Amino acid sequence: MSNEKSTKEALLLKVKALEEVINNVGSYIYTKDVSGCYTFVNHAVESIFNVSLANVIGKDDSQFFDLDVYNQLKINDQKVLSEDTLISSEEVNLIKSTGELKTFHTVKKSLTNDVGEIIGMCGISTDISQQKKLESTIIEQNKLLDTVLNNVDAYIYMKDDQRYFRYVNNKTAKMLGQSHEDIIGKLDSDVLGTEMANHFWQSDKLVFETNKKQTVEEVVDDGKGNLRHYLSMKIPYKLNEDSQVLIGFSTDVTELYQLKEEFKKQANTDSLTGLYNRRYFFKHAAKEFSRAKRNGLGLSVISIDIDYFKKINDKYGHPIGDKVLIKMSNDFFPNLRQEDILARVGGEEFAIILPDTLLEKAKAVAQRICHTKNTFVVDKENNETIEIQVSIGLVSMKASDLNFDDLFVRADNALYQAKKSGRNRVYFDL
Ligand code: GH3
Ligand code: MG
Ligand code: MG
Repeated sequence: MSNEKSTKEALLLKVKALEEVINNVGSYIYTKDVSGCYTFVNHAVESIFNVSLANVIGKDDSQFFDLDVYNQLKINDQKVLSEDTLISSEEVNLIKSTGELKTFHTVKKSLTNDVGEIIGMCGISTDISQQKKLESTIIEQNKLLDTVLNNVDAYIYMKDDQRYFRYVNNKTAKMLGQSHEDIIGKLDSDVLGTEMANHFWQSDKLVFETNKKQTVEEVVDDGKGNLRHYLSMKIPYKLNEDSQVLIGFSTDVTELYQLKEEFKKQANTDSLTGLYNRRYFFKHAAKEFSRAKRNGLGLSVISIDIDYFKKINDKYGHPIGDKVLIKMSNDFFPNLRQEDILARVGGEEFAIILPDTLLEKAKAVAQRICHTKNTFVVDKENNETIEIQVSIGLVSMKASDLNFDDLFVRADNALYQAKKSGRNRVYFDL
């Protein structure tokens, strides 16, 4: 008797323990009979339906759920109640007591008696609404990110510190002429070729070494012999515990670069003749002067002014005067060396800096210019021409010249002497 009692007590204890587990497991646990009416629910179900166990038993799901729209529950129940099986699936249910729409992961199993007849079913449903919401937020955010990354006018890529590509946007894949699959997970040299990969790696490496953002200008041959200029920003990023990567944004700034170069050229060029302008002349003159002083080299300056130019303007008009200036710029100064700097420094005034040149050699250059016969044809039919003549002042650097201005003032004075002593000649200052 006492044995029987202790067995019963042990059984009761076991049932109690099981009840504890069932009520605290954090899932909805229930059993139903063959007609789909509840025979048992745990506390979680009572709580979500907002009714006591007594008021759940014997009721079917139409009391607690909106089954017209969300009918997966009904379909699943019918299946486990009509054949001995187990279903594991997702169910979306609208809960009448709260009006909430919830997603459950549900496992349902048929219950059978000793002879294998179905006598009902049991189920465990776990609320996965939060995960589902998170999942759909992630999907939405990924879609948004994809849209942004693939429509922004920049090459965007991710590379790791082992030089493997981790991501490229559509624009990058298109430029490389390869599919995403052919690039992602591949070594940079396999995708770009060794030379280009090494070129990019120079700044990539700095990102990993310094762990700081790098902004660089990168020049790449486009394969058709044209150089493309890119402004690249590369930022370090820790993808996860073991992966240090960089995210790169490169913008094609070739047009901007060319425009900048053009502006630079224009700022240094005289628009009428295409020669260097006064600004460029004096900027470089100062450099040449210091270099000559430092290295003890010769430096000569030739100052040129067209004789009686006013008369040309007066007789033929300003536009012809302009043409004369252009022709003169093209014809008057042959055989200058690469390092000589010829500029239009005034209306009809030109100047030449001759680096590394002493007076004797510069004199020959000046004489040659002065004696160049330069005829401008005004009217071919009537054989009307203008003979253009110039006066030239020539100086070479002396120890007393403290800066380029000293030298240039002397060149101007020499030019004045050339004019005063009859024009169309070279006057040099000894
Ligand atoms: P000189 O022999 O003494 O040098 O006589 P000049 O007539 O050349 O006299 P000056 O050097 O004083 O005059 C230069 C003239 O050049 C005055 C100006 O009208 C003209 N001039 C200056 N710039 C331009 C230009 O861009 N185009 C034209 N057509 N004429 C210019
Ligand atoms: Mg003049
Ligand atoms: Mg003149």
